[in-house]
Amino acid sequence: MSTKDYLEKDYYKVLGVSKNASQDEIKKAYRKLAQQYHPDRNKGDADAEERFKEVSEANSVLSDEQRRKEYDQVRSMPSGFRGAGGGQGGGFGFDLGDLFGQGGQPPGGGAGTHGAGERIGDLFGGLFNRGGTRTGTGQRRARRGADVETEVGLTFAQAMNGVTVPLKLTSEAACPTCHGTGAKAGTVPRVCPNCEGTGQETRNLGNFGFSEPCHICRGRGLVVDDPCPTCSGSGRATGTRTIQARIPAGVADGQKIRLKAKGAPGENGGPSGDLYVNIKVTPHKVFGRSGDNLTLTVPVTFPEAALGAEIRVPTFQGQPVTLRVPEGTPNGRTFRVRGRGAARRDGSKGDLLVTVDVQVPDKLDDQTRTALESLRSSGVGDDLRGGLLRQAGEE
Ligand SMILES: [Zn+2]
Ligand SMILES: [Zn+2]
Repeated sequence: MSTKDYLEKDYYKVLGVSKNASQDEIKKAYRKLAQQYHPDRNKGDADAEERFKEVSEANSVLSDEQRRKEYDQVRSMPSGFRGAGGGQGGGFGFDLGDLFGQGGQPPGGGAGTHGAGERIGDLFGGLFNRGGTRTGTGQRRARRGADVETEVGLTFAQAMNGVTVPLKLTSEAACPTCHGTGAKAGTVPRVCPNCEGTGQETRNLGNFGFSEPCHICRGRGLVVDDPCPTCSGSGRATGTRTIQARIPAGVADGQKIRLKAKGAPGENGGPSGDLYVNIKVTPHKVFGRSGDNLTLTVPVTFPEAALGAEIRVPTFQGQPVTLRVPEGTPNGRTFRVRGRGAARRDGSKGDLLVTVDVQVPDKLDDQTRTALESLRSSGVGDDLRGGLLRQAGEE
């Protein structure tokens, strides 16, 4: 299989699983599809055979943690690293020259580089016209910014109602001194002689040939003879930015939220990465969560459970509701109060699940004792364990 195949194929799609599918899910999906397309069951069916091969191939990579990691890594790399072949490259990336010719975004994209775009454009334009020979044009490719992951702690109420939280993120941005070129003021970087400006070189890894960032220029395609003193020639600086992240109502503890394009900014006009926010929610004293539903345990007396009763139960941030406990309700039975749960994505709400917990009095006054004794003498439950004792002896 060529490198290109390896990179072009979406193994997750082939198996019909999500990118963060567990090994179990992958195994299950593979078994099902392998059975379905197995040559033994599809004699002479070329399509099925092709599918079977595809599925096996996808499984062999995804079921191996190490290979899966490599695959994910390469797939997440910006196209410029992937070796899709400059010039004829399919759909990815921008030609920096064109970009600047149209008065587009300055490289780095981030705030603070505006105004420098024109100058850099001229500079790079000249540079690329005499760029590398391997790709013909030696264009620099747009790079998508990295995905960023962070964690946010919410109170139970914040998670239920939704909240906007400021998140302080540290990420790479263009160096403010050299505006991302990495070159000292008044000098220009030159095309990397090792990769001829493509920023990538090929490494063989087992069965696959991988394109990886050039070790001389670290994927930039450019080398700097007089490095910028601020960034030592990397062209990058660590920036801190604060974004306002809108956490939707109804999020639960342990959930991961994806905020599109709120990750690290892209380079050379590439799109920003995504921000993943891991949600931590402080438990509530009274209410629990079960998916979109809230849970609540309410104590009831034995007479309430046995005779039936109307009891008042609290709702989250709402008026208490009256719940009818029917005659003969067993301990542990759960009742549903509709629409008093957590918000769902579609705007509807989950339910409040109320579980009754029948209380046994730990102190008896004379009146209660007399009442209970009269219940006992009434014969209720006399043969309660009879069936159990009889059936225990059966085979
Ligand atoms: Zn710099
Ligand atoms: Zn290089």
